Amino acid sequence: MKIYQSRSDVPEKEKWRNEDIFPTIKDWEEDYRYIEEGTERLKKYDGEIHDGTELYQYLSEREEISSRFNLVYVYGMLQLDLDTRDSLAQSLQDRAKQLGVKMSAASSFFMPFLLSLEEVTLREYIKQEPRLNYFEKDLFESLRYKVHILTKEKEEILSHLGEALSAPSNTFNMMNNADIKFGEVTNEEGMKVELTRGMYSKLIEDEDRNKRKDAYKAYYQPYLQLKNSIASTLSANIKTNVTIGRLRNYPSALEKGLFGDRVPTEVYENLISTTKEHIEPLHRYTTLRKEKLGLDELHQYDLNAPLVDGVNMEISYDEAFETIFKALAPLGEEYVQTLKTFKDSRYIDVRETPGKRSGAYNLGVYDVHPFVLLNQHDDLDSMFTMIHEFGHAMHSWYSSKNQPRISAGYSIFVAEVASTVNEVLLIHYLLKKETDEKVRKNLLNHFIDQFRGTFFTQVMFAEFEKLTHEMAEKGKPLNVESFNQTYESLFREYNGDEIIFDDEVKYGWSRIPHFYKPFYVYKYATGFASAIHIAENLLKGGLDTLKAYLDFLKSGSSDYPLELLKKTGVDLTTPVPIENALKRFNQLVTEFSTL
Ligand SMILES: [Zn+2]
Repeated sequence: MKIYQSRSDVPEKEKWRNEDIFPTIKDWEEDYRYIEEGTERLKKYDGEIHDGTELYQYLSEREEISSRFNLVYVYGMLQLDLDTRDSLAQSLQDRAKQLGVKMSAASSFFMPFLLSLEEVTLREYIKQEPRLNYFEKDLFESLRYKVHILTKEKEEILSHLGEALSAPSNTFNMMNNADIKFGEVTNEEGMKVELTRGMYSKLIEDEDRNKRKDAYKAYYQPYLQLKNSIASTLSANIKTNVTIGRLRNYPSALEKGLFGDRVPTEVYENLISTTKEHIEPLHRYTTLRKEKLGLDELHQYDLNAPLVDGVNMEISYDEAFETIFKALAPLGEEYVQTLKTFKDSRYIDVRETPGKRSGAYNLGVYDVHPFVLLNQHDDLDSMFTMIHEFGHAMHSWYSSKNQPRISAGYSIFVAEVASTVNEVLLIHYLLKKETDEKVRKNLLNHFIDQFRGTFFTQVMFAEFEKLTHEMAEKGKPLNVESFNQTYESLFREYNGDEIIFDDEVKYGWSRIPHFYKPFYVYKYATGFASAIHIAENLLKGGLDTLKAYLDFLKSGSSDYPLELLKKTGVDLTTPVPIENALKRFNQLVTEFSTL
């Protein structure tokens, strides 16, 4: 693998073209000025919308200005991600943010105005001005919230309390990111050093059990020390959420959490109950782990230990691309050919360089093209990251090409489907051609671990959120003890009895930032299960399945997520997609056990 010390050493063809957004800074400045003036024009509509035509004029002008703003914003952001020390990019980004604040202030009058309209009036406006059809879905989507909006005075009180109400979540994040001090571990040179998160994720996968154990203990140390404070932030967050839900006339906190995606609570409950009905293979896998690791006792810190050693596949960037093209063949010629152009037209920034943002992402820019950021390490994991991000990028590309601007973006609920389908196709392709037992085992283990992390753990978290919110709704106490009890019994139920319950296990709830964003993580699990379902069908062939899937990729946010998924044959209101995914997991475990 090649290490680059400077961006200028990276070959041009492996760097993305930011100039596709603005050829020069001068062009950026021109748009910036245009938006500043536009913001002033938007303000003038306050109190001046009296009929369909005026409403249309406002909305179309706002859309035009905000689409230009989007370009100004992402240009600085993309530039800054390439080198976070770049002061020019930093200043572009700061200025874009300030502009964003001005823009939202200029349009802040609109939502209260819209919500003050009666539905009949809005329909009347649309009749007067047919061009409003374009905005119709969004307008009525906002009106859907009307029953949950309070009187002007109450809304004002809530908005003044905004900062205080988000204090539990802010406090936890401050503790978790800034103040926490992990315990010490011994490094390669035999010196005692303070554990970092980066070190932890490596050490917990180490072959040496003592290293795993030390890292585990050091990692949990601050959470155990801060248990009462964290129980208090989590409890306050849950209770606030429950109270706001009640104030805003939601039947439950869960209903409030699912309202935006228009997901019925049955989908959430069904995810949990179906998973628990078919949990046995996960228990079997835990036992298998203990056997394969040759341990008398299985602890939580053994759950990520490598089961297959000595597999270090080196795969260059170009080789990975060739494999990816073959693996994605079930998605048809157009898909693969388009992806090829992403590489040739330089939509991808490939190499790790000093100051570059870590990890990987796709950012679809409606008027331009998708941008994919990678930190390529020329190994198996990097190949999976590539195909994952390409799944998002192709989703952006198809939706941008086939949807008007207003519905081109897709929701989080469906986002991980496109990326996971690609990963499943890659696993399938690699397993089919691989004959080396060790490599096969490694691939199966990769897939199983992904299932555990993206599906089972998230379902368990989802159930924890549901239970703790229900406890708050029933006025039951939320404290260290009740959190511990709830978490421990869930952990046992999902992972089986084979694991030794060290004290740390039951404190798992205290380290999860997502718990401060209630009813969010279940989407990882439903997305994952949907993707497994779709990929299996695609592999069976069938042009109808392919067409339906491509139509899904083209559909952006033209409908609610459950409806979009239904068109691919995934109906999450029934247990079938979850059952199918769990069947696949069962097969994987069986196959793994025979190797
Ligand atoms: Zn993703």
